[in-house]
Amino acid sequence: MLPQEIIRKKRDGELISAEELQFFSSGIADESISEGQIAAFAMAIYFQGMKSNETAALTLAMRDTGDVLNWKQENFSGPIIDKHSTGGVGDSVSLMLGPLLAACGGYVPMISGRGLGHTGGTLDKLDAIPGYNSTPDNNLFRKTVRECGVAIIGQTGKLAPADKRFYATRDITATVESIPLITASILSKKFAAGLDCLCMDIKTGSGAFMPTPEESVALAQSIVDIGNATGVNTSALITDMNQPLGSTVGNALEVHEAINFLTNDHQNPRLLQVVFSLCTELLMLSEITDNPFDATTMLEAELVSGRAAERFGRMVHSLGGPIDLIEKPDKYLSKAEVIKPVHLQETGFVSNIDTRALGMAVVELGGGRIRAEDDIDFAVGLSDFITIGKSSDRAIATIHARTEADWEQAAEKIKKAITVSDSAPAQSPVIHQTIST
Ligand code: URA
Repeated sequence: MLPQEIIRKKRDGELISAEELQFFSSGIADESISEGQIAAFAMAIYFQGMKSNETAALTLAMRDTGDVLNWKQENFSGPIIDKHSTGGVGDSVSLMLGPLLAACGGYVPMISGRGLGHTGGTLDKLDAIPGYNSTPDNNLFRKTVRECGVAIIGQTGKLAPADKRFYATRDITATVESIPLITASILSKKFAAGLDCLCMDIKTGSGAFMPTPEESVALAQSIVDIGNATGVNTSALITDMNQPLGSTVGNALEVHEAINFLTNDHQNPRLLQVVFSLCTELLMLSEITDNPFDATTMLEAELVSGRAAERFGRMVHSLGGPIDLIEKPDKYLSKAEVIKPVHLQETGFVSNIDTRALGMAVVELGGGRIRAEDDIDFAVGLSDFITIGKSSDRAIATIHARTEADWEQAAEKIKKAITVSDSAPAQSPVIHQTIST
């Protein structure tokens, strides 16, 4: 087979066979296909799209370019389950969802990513924990899943390597925003983890990766269709990203928020709703329970008893972090030097938040990357973030910065990202839609 012939077929709107997609994917992984050919193929798919059987074949072909984890030999007493989010701001859901599901009897081998653009990444949050090894070897990963029921780690070079190279080329050739390519990219990595069930959290709103509600729904439908067609029980929730999900934005701050949540100190209601909705969906998809009321009762019991917090603490320790992180987060999580609240001049009710701009303000404080190789400052970010509908006579957030100048610059950006109006706007739902078939 010749790569240029496969590119030509797609350019002219013809269908690509599963064998051709396997050939192309292995060529991406072993570098026998050039970056120029990957770029041309991605652009052809961007314009011509893919039929769902082509997207399914591309997903499986990319998955099979690396290791596919098999958990059968472990004889686990529960299903292998996970969720994946398209990325948001103040979205620490995975840190609570993984331990909660493990406490309910599931096994969660979660392969997560780093921050992308204005969105935060679960891996960067976990790296804020001193000693935490987010890239363990296979033995330690398996041992942690076996003993704790949950291990949250990063993608190794051995999991779906074709996606790593394909994505890097798409990123620099304006071909990321293609629904078949996003579907195959996300699912190839998730399926390499050997899942029985997956729930996608597709964000919509001003901080979401997909620009319009219609495109969020189209992506969700594509992922659900391809997931189910390739043998993984998959559903998706469309959730709101018109404001930060939790009360904090920033790596160490979000780990702290997750610990407060798991230890029942403080649970931001919007964050709680997304965590419980995704967990409920997964408990039902995996048949741990068959109705949402039992699922909620189970989740509340695991949260209130502290058993979910205990799972989180065990996972952290198993992967090299401190044994007493849950009891003494302040001892381990780094803190910024300048921590002060910021107020708006205008009075009124918060009616709109440019969530993308807020995410970028945290990136500029040092909490995210401008270039892939940049180091992250775990301590910086925002806490006590105001929500839509609240009166602006209180502080809109507390900014955690390294210097006064950084604080001032972030304050300007954050104030600009918030619009106030004379009356409180109607509250929009946190969970917009569930897509399960
Ligand atoms: N996240 C991914 O992993 N892949 C994409 O293509 C887009 C977002």
